[in-house]
Amino acid sequence: MADWTYEKNGCVYPLDGDGLLKGFSHYMRSISAGWIIAQKVVMIEGIRRLVDVGRWIIRTSELTIPRAARESQAEHLIQAMANVCRFRIIHEGDGCTWASDGSMKPASASIEEEKVVLGAATGPSTLVLKIPGRNVSILHGEQIGLIIALMLAGQSSSDAQFCSPIIRILLGLSKTVPRLRNMNGCTYYRWILSLIDRMDTSVKYTCAHTEEDTMEARMNRDADFYASHSHEFKSMVPQSPVPTFHMNDYTFYRDRDGWIESNIGDFINVSMASETSTKLGIGNKYRMSTWAHDESSQPDFPYLRAISAHSAAVQLYARSGQLPTADILVERGKLSSNRCRLGCDEVEDMHHIFVYCEVYEEWRAEAGASVVEWTKEKLNTLEVEEVIANNLLNSAKSLFTDDPLVWPLQKMFFCLGQLPKIDPLINMGGVESGEIYR
Ligand SMILES: [Zn+2]
Repeated sequence: MADWTYEKNGCVYPLDGDGLLKGFSHYMRSISAGWIIAQKVVMIEGIRRLVDVGRWIIRTSELTIPRAARESQAEHLIQAMANVCRFRIIHEGDGCTWASDGSMKPASASIEEEKVVLGAATGPSTLVLKIPGRNVSILHGEQIGLIIALMLAGQSSSDAQFCSPIIRILLGLSKTVPRLRNMNGCTYYRWILSLIDRMDTSVKYTCAHTEEDTMEARMNRDADFYASHSHEFKSMVPQSPVPTFHMNDYTFYRDRDGWIESNIGDFINVSMASETSTKLGIGNKYRMSTWAHDESSQPDFPYLRAISAHSAAVQLYARSGQLPTADILVERGKLSSNRCRLGCDEVEDMHHIFVYCEVYEEWRAEAGASVVEWTKEKLNTLEVEEVIANNLLNSAKSLFTDDPLVWPLQKMFFCLGQLPKIDPLINMGGVESGEIYR
């Protein structure tokens, strides 16, 4: 038992029996996150034994080949690909300097999201490779770029110098550094160190300031060009081999993510959060369907600074399906009829109150007119193009009605704090002007 279980949990073990009845998320800053995530996993996923988590397997027959043989196969493959692909060289270098770079699209993708990560190296020859799997980041792109550079440089007999900042850090390290084991991208770092170890010629770092007009800076810009522009032909970019030969003895794997080498606690946390949000997003009468609506963050003011927190409280109740409307009270046996208690001959649910109830018609019209007025004012100040301005004005007019042209799920969701997607309306003048209007 850990110290904190005496102090904060009355000597109760948190991962079994009564210990599972209490949540610890609010202790995130004072006890180790590992405990909190483990408890959530046991509670939500019902995991009791290691076999409930997964099983140890040798995933492919490839893993039965000795590590050294796999490494040599991978390296031959990369060298062969450089010969076959024959990328055009943009600027001639000095024959011994190499630049490399990585890129990821979409740039903001999280560890769970689909993405394309590319690594590129250019020097006396050039190659771009795509990294398989989803549990990868821009760092892996930069690492594979450097791996390509080292491997292609190793084929020549002259000394090589590299513009990658990664090499400057690594030249002072050895592959047995214990800290490498838990570092993000550790497998690729080990591969880089192994390549440096085996090179016959000396490896040097050379600094390249992008703003200068030196050969190194030009090559850096070329590497950046290959890494970022190859996304336009991503289906034609060859895949890099996965360096399983430098992985820890046991490594996590999930079919849709590939090898998981990021922090496993964080990974489980993100994965559970996205599972919950998917469940909420499609169930519960679409009350939490954030995916269908505008994804930009909500303005803070009504939640944090408004003098009365009433509207925020109403929205919280509405989102959790707890507004005491007649239909809900009938379900709970607190009322005998679900008809509108304000006199309309309709079922009194949240939607009726916010969109159709005649008693509130005047308020709705008044609020609608104000929104249209504010929108007009903003459009005039920003001098927005006419087509875009008309689009935005039409949406503003329909904000409080069930207009199927404006609301993606054919129903008004404003009372749940949602807005129709704004990007398609403002990007008509190009993404750049869309950014400005937002
Ligand atoms: Zn009514």
